Amino acid sequence: MPWKAHSRGERSDMNIHEFQAKEVLARYGVPTLRRAVATTAAEAGAATAQIDPSGAGPWVVKAQIHAGGRGKGGGVKLVKSAAEAESFAGSILGKPLVTHQTGPQGRIVRRVLVEQGCRIERELYLGLTLDRATGVVTAIASAEGGVEIEEVAAHSPEKILREAIAPEFGCQAYQGRKLAKSLGLPSASLNKFAKFLCALYDAYVATDASLVEINPLVLTKDGDLIALDAKMGFDDNALFRHADIRELRDPEEEDPRERQAQEFDLSYIALDGTIGCMVNGAGLAMATMDIIKHAGGEPANFLDVGGGADAKKVAAAFRIILADPSVKAVLINIFGGIMRCDVLATGVVQAATEMKLTVPVVCRLEGTNVEIGRKILADSGLNIITAADMADAAQKVVAASTGSAR
Ligand code: GDP
Ligand code: MN
Repeated sequence: MPWKAHSRGERSDMNIHEFQAKEVLARYGVPTLRRAVATTAAEAGAATAQIDPSGAGPWVVKAQIHAGGRGKGGGVKLVKSAAEAESFAGSILGKPLVTHQTGPQGRIVRRVLVEQGCRIERELYLGLTLDRATGVVTAIASAEGGVEIEEVAAHSPEKILREAIAPEFGCQAYQGRKLAKSLGLPSASLNKFAKFLCALYDAYVATDASLVEINPLVLTKDGDLIALDAKMGFDDNALFRHADIRELRDPEEEDPRERQAQEFDLSYIALDGTIGCMVNGAGLAMATMDIIKHAGGEPANFLDVGGGADAKKVAAAFRIILADPSVKAVLINIFGGIMRCDVLATGVVQAATEMKLTVPVVCRLEGTNVEIGRKILADSGLNIITAADMADAAQKVVAASTGSAR
């Protein structure tokens, strides 16, 4: 499912906060509400007057973390006074917020967004993503907004509407009107929705976004369409031409291991299991994942060292894997084509010696200079279990991870 493409753990996306996404989108004409960002409770209280000098309110105070589900998790509150904004902000700032997307440890709330309240008539969902099957940016919309789109997709897939936007023509107003009609919007809102969609599309294309999600997009009682929530992800490979977007990166929201991997230009994927995996190439990573699962194990992570890694890079990769406390055994599964097996072995030995290897390592090597590579590992004095092929490697590493092998 294309809207899964942004899920945490994928390296091809850089995510930003809601308040940042709203800034970006507003530049392209996407309607948003008056708002201000606050890092302290006092600032949050003061922001209410800045947003609404009449003091009438209400306002909404929202935790800013790179995860959804904040509403249900207690990170969003409608407040009626500056004092209430201040006390709610004070109650969530500096503490972890747990939502169904953060994991049990939650994420520390370092900022809140204070926003003008609005009277909601209906909540919709509107997203844009690249449909990888057709290679075309596609709008995804649903009349069931404010809830998880994945759940709507699972329970009532017929409620998810799609509209492909042809790159040669760009967003056409009729496409927006068509979607709006299917969403059951009143006729007075059709053109507004079309404008909204095309502004969103402009922002998406201009920033090389990989995903934008407005959930909910609300129809207000006054008949306006507004982005009440906003999420954006950007293609890492295009960030070099967007200095302004690059600046929005929040390292505190990124997995420290992912950050480290990035420094060495390695691809790192964090997962929930116990087996650390070093592979080269995305295809081999997939095959390795399948065969580990088949053998009854679960990968803790994948580190893809790519093709042309030198020993230093391999050592960095191995260190990142070993630094993960959930790793109970490591599988090195390398087919050395461009990557030479001797270089790989040298890097592994370097890192393993430095770090005092405490978990079993299973190694399956094939390809260029494989004999030299195996000899380096064998002569290293390290306890490295060699495997004959992938199936053998998977069985051995799963056994090693549960302590049932020696
Ligand atoms: P999420 O739970 O992390 O996706 O956070 P959202 O930004 O989507 O907020 C959750 C819910 O809070 C929304 O679905 C709305 O129902 C509600 N909400 C957010 N902003 C406002 C607002 O300005 N006015 C009102 N009445 N409700 C809001
Ligand atoms: Mn939302």
